[in-house]
Amino acid sequence: MLDVRTEIAIAAVLSAVTGASLLYVLRDYPAQFAPSIRRWTAGVLLQAVAWSLYCLQNLAPLWLTTVGAGTVLVWAMANHCQGVRLFVGRPLGPWRFWGPVAAAALIETVFCLLVPDGRANVVLFSSIFVVQAIWACAALFRPGPLRDRSHVLTGAMFATLAVVMGARVVYEGLRHGSLPSLIANSPMQILVFALSAAASSVASLGFMLMCNDRLNRELEWYATIDTLTGINNRRTLGERATFAIAAAHRLRRPLSLMLVDADHFKRVNDVYGHATGDEALQMIAAALQSTLRGGDLLGRLGGEEFVVVLPDTDETAARGTAERLRAAVEDIEFALQHRRIELRVSVGLAVIDDHDDFSELLRRADQAMYAAKRAGRNCVCGPSDLTQGPVVVAANFGESADAGRRPL
Ligand code: GH3
Ligand code: MG
Ligand code: MG
Repeated sequence: MLDVRTEIAIAAVLSAVTGASLLYVLRDYPAQFAPSIRRWTAGVLLQAVAWSLYCLQNLAPLWLTTVGAGTVLVWAMANHCQGVRLFVGRPLGPWRFWGPVAAAALIETVFCLLVPDGRANVVLFSSIFVVQAIWACAALFRPGPLRDRSHVLTGAMFATLAVVMGARVVYEGLRHGSLPSLIANSPMQILVFALSAAASSVASLGFMLMCNDRLNRELEWYATIDTLTGINNRRTLGERATFAIAAAHRLRRPLSLMLVDADHFKRVNDVYGHATGDEALQMIAAALQSTLRGGDLLGRLGGEEFVVVLPDTDETAARGTAERLRAAVEDIEFALQHRRIELRVSVGLAVIDDHDDFSELLRRADQAMYAAKRAGRNCVCGPSDLTQGPVVVAANFGESADAGRRPL
């Protein structure tokens, strides 16, 4: 035999303990999570208050156990809803936050105190929950490329609440006979409170997992991406290049690696400042990225040096790509105070040989890149140039090209 009052009391204790636990861990999360976790925690604690007040049915004044409890419960739900909405960056406006709270207070006052009507009260009050749960679901299930399982879990709890409360609206609205009191041991009341307590605990778990998932993703981003340019950092580049090189050896396919070094980049910093230098590096990375194909690998080795790995590409094809990269950087329109800042790169090319690993390929690409620097910069140098002596392959030697080779 389940007793509704006991059920509500357990739910109240569970919420109070969960809320206190969230308050305890809140400060360990980065500040960006604070607004949404604070909202969620407020929702859990308010829920504990509301359920405690429901427990006092027939023991405390009627206005407190009806209007008070009902209003606080909807206020708690508004905070839960706002917690997830803040998390996804689509907070509820004041009307959608406070409107349901005011509506709950009005409905409870009218149908519990002024013109008692249990049916109207239950139907209208439950409808408010349905609307709030839908607003939370809309934020969690909005169309997007990637959705964490924690989002689905939390959203599923709101969806469950919407369905249970919707069923309650239909069931209590349509059935004949008078409505039992809120704490009567009717099947519907037992179901509603048991599911509400369970769903609220699972939703809190889901919400904290959502925070952890986002935190993990951010940490993963910082660990793999170069924060200045948004391309692979040295570590990721090494890992992916090693993988691509192993595949090339296994499948006996060609692979080319390029070292792309910005020419006279120190001067960009010296003349225009470090911030402009940073911006220039971002533009170079974007130009390289947009010139490459989907399967190619681009990363920043460090400073003003970039690495490109071209799987399944022999020297002839790699030279074509290298020349396109060089030209793409040359074409960057970058101006400061109406003064064009010319950006140039020198490219060193290496092609995979038996047993080459990433560091060996990089060493040969570095040699080729220095040959390109010696040959006048703004050009491409590859393995065949090294064997025949440093010959400039890509850049023209006409007067205009020579001017182009002076970046500033
Ligand atoms: P070279 O044509 O021989 O490559 O000349 P360089 O000036 O490009 O080469 P050098 O190695 O002398 O200087 C590299 C410069 O790149 C030095 C440093 O100021 C700049 N640099 C490296 N990393 C960054 C960065 O993250 N931001 C900015 N703004 N500048 C950087
Ligand atoms: Mg340089
Ligand atoms: Mg360099």
